[in-house]
Amino acid sequence: MTQAFSLAIHGGAGTLVKGQMTAEKESAYKKALELALDSGYTLLKEGATAVDAVEKAVSILEDSPLFNAGKGSVFTAEGSHEMDAAIMNGKTLDAGAVSLIQGIKNPIALARDVMEKSDHIFLAGEGAMKFAESLHYSVEDASYFYDEFRYRQWQEIKGTDSFQLDHSSKKDSKFGTVGAVACDQHGNLAAATSTGGMTNKRFGRVGDSPMIGVGNYANNKTCAVSCTGSGEFFIKAVVAYDVSCLMEYKGLSLIEATSEVIHKRLLDIGGDGGLIAVDTDGNIAMPFNTEGMYRGSNSSLGKKIISIYGD
Ligand code: ASP
Repeated sequence: MTQAFSLAIHGGAGTLVKGQMTAEKESAYKKALELALDSGYTLLKEGATAVDAVEKAVSILEDSPLFNAGKGSVFTAEGSHEMDAAIMNGKTLDAGAVSLIQGIKNPIALARDVMEKSDHIFLAGEGAMKFAESLHYSVEDASYFYDEFRYRQWQEIKGTDSFQLDHSSKKDSKFGTVGAVACDQHGNLAAATSTGGMTNKRFGRVGDSPMIGVGNYANNKTCAVSCTGSGEFFIKAVVAYDVSCLMEYKGLSLIEATSEVIHKRLLDIGGDGGLIAVDTDGNIAMPFNTEGMYRGSNSSLGKKIISIYGD
């Protein structure tokens, strides 16, 4: 039997509450998801590595202002954009992550460079920016990342002590951390995740997304996972690695392990969100405990899916 290959992507858990979603907006989200999915999947079909496919899909989502990553990232309390990203290769367990970076169009590319061109795994803030400079990344000014909707979100809570998840169900917010997971034609796995974090965040707040084993993880023994949701809770639950452990140590299937973590363990501690995951047989799981999760998947095993709400 030939090796199955699969790709899954997400554009954030939460989503606009059903009543606030217009047909126009829904179609714009779906189009953006489809472009990212098709671009990554075409690479897999042509025999590219899982790492190439997830980087491609995530960078396309970063380029869309609809999602809270790259262009369209949320505003910090100071009115800037601080972005986090991570990528991991399930074959080698090599990983790269950056956090609190500013002005970089595609944070996921920088995370990959950390993985492949440095002796380290995680670079943050000024140091990460110096690393980017050493590789001649161009630094965009704030206007590149500006999005009217994000700006209004920030204005509502600017000057207060509160910070807001981009997918708070109480607000008419759109969500938007992005991620991709893939199993390639050689059965190798990879995961990539990128985010602007939370609106009005302060004090160098970092969420789960760039943390290896929390918001992003890949291991050929088990699965590749990319998360989205209330980062603080995902950190407490060490979500991505927990899915992998349930598969490795307890023999759970991908569907069982992801469902246990999202619908039980995370819920038990009050965390909301979801994840996408693939295993080395090309199986895909995309559970979430919020009203929706922008998501898409395609696989040599079955059909292409682009979806927002629960099915
Ligand atoms: N998990 C991200 C964070 O806490 C937010 C999100 O998924 O939208 O930074």
